[in-house]
Amino acid sequence: MKRHSTAGCEILVEQLSAYIDGDLAAAECATIEEHARSCQRCATVIRDLRDTVGLCHKAAKSPLPEAVKRRARARIRALLSGEG
Ligand SMILES: [Zn+2]
Repeated sequence: MKRHSTAGCEILVEQLSAYIDGDLAAAECATIEEHARSCQRCATVIRDLRDTVGLCHKAAKSPLPEAVKRRARARIRALLSGEG
């Protein structure tokens, strides 16, 4: 079992699902982006998601195909569990 000092990451994974679904409140979106400022891994994930998903407010306007969501979630998990 591995432990990281980046406690925000676990929350981020949960929040990112909503982020991907375009279902994230602006305040929560800000929390994610704030965490990403101090967490290189999450910053990478989010930068990647931005290309795919767009920012949270944008995503709300255009629902993503399920395949894209699945891929984004898989990427988040892989990055958070496989690195560091
Ligand atoms: Zn993180």
